Amino acid sequence: MSEKFKPPPFNYCDYRCERCDEQEKCRVFKDDQERLLEHYRKGEDPYDPEIFMNDLKEIFSRTEKMIKKAAQEHGIDLDDVGDEEVPEVEPEEYLIYRLAYKYFEEANAFIKTLDKSGIPENIKQYYDDLVWYHTLIAAKSGRLVSGFIDDLLDDEVSAVEEKGTVSVIRKGIRLSKNALESMLSEFPDHLHTIASLMELLKQIESQIEIDIRQKI
Ligand code: SF4
Repeated sequence: MSEKFKPPPFNYCDYRCERCDEQEKCRVFKDDQERLLEHYRKGEDPYDPEIFMNDLKEIFSRTEKMIKKAAQEHGIDLDDVGDEEVPEVEPEEYLIYRLAYKYFEEANAFIKTLDKSGIPENIKQYYDDLVWYHTLIAAKSGRLVSGFIDDLLDDEVSAVEEKGTVSVIRKGIRLSKNALESMLSEFPDHLHTIASLMELLKQIESQIEIDIRQKI
C-alpha cells in the first residue's frame, strides 16, 4: 500500500513556496500562481480582503466537490455517518507536543521582545525563519500526535504520513537552530533566552529519536 501511496509534495511541506524546490510538481503552488495571474490580468489586487475572501470561498467549494467525487469513486456514502464515537485527541498527553508547545511559547515571547527593539537587516532572514518555524513546529507536532489515534487511515499510509510530518518538524528544528545561532552575535544580551530555546529544540529532537509516542 505504501508503495502505491505517493503523497503530493504539499502534504509535508513547510508552506514556504518561495524557497521550495517542488514548485514544478506542486498543484497547490500552480493553482495559487494561476489565481494571482488571473487577478493581475483583470487589474485586481489579489490581496484585497474582499477578493481574497471570494477566492477562499471558491477554493472551499472546489474542495467540497473533490471530496464528494472521491467519496463516490470509493463507494463511500457521506450522508451515512455512523454513531461510532471518534476518540478525542489530547495532544498535551504527549511529551513531544508539550516540548514543542513550550518552545512555541518561549520563542513567541522572544519574538515580541525583538519586535519592539527592531530587527537589523543583516539578520532579517534568520528572524523570519525563527518566526515561521516557531508556529510550524508546534502545529506539526500537534498533527503528529493526533495521527496516533486516527483509525481511519491504513497502517502503511499512516506510517508514510508520520514519516513526512516528522521530516517537516526536523527541518523546522534545523533551520530554527541555525537562525538562533546566527542571531546570537547580534543579541548577546539575550544569550540566556537563546540558549534556553536551543535547549528546547534539542529536547524535541531527542524525543523524536527516543519515542514520539511517549506520554507524560
Ligand atoms: S510549492 Fe509551496 S505548497 Fe507546494 S510543496 Fe512547496 S512549499 Fe509546499
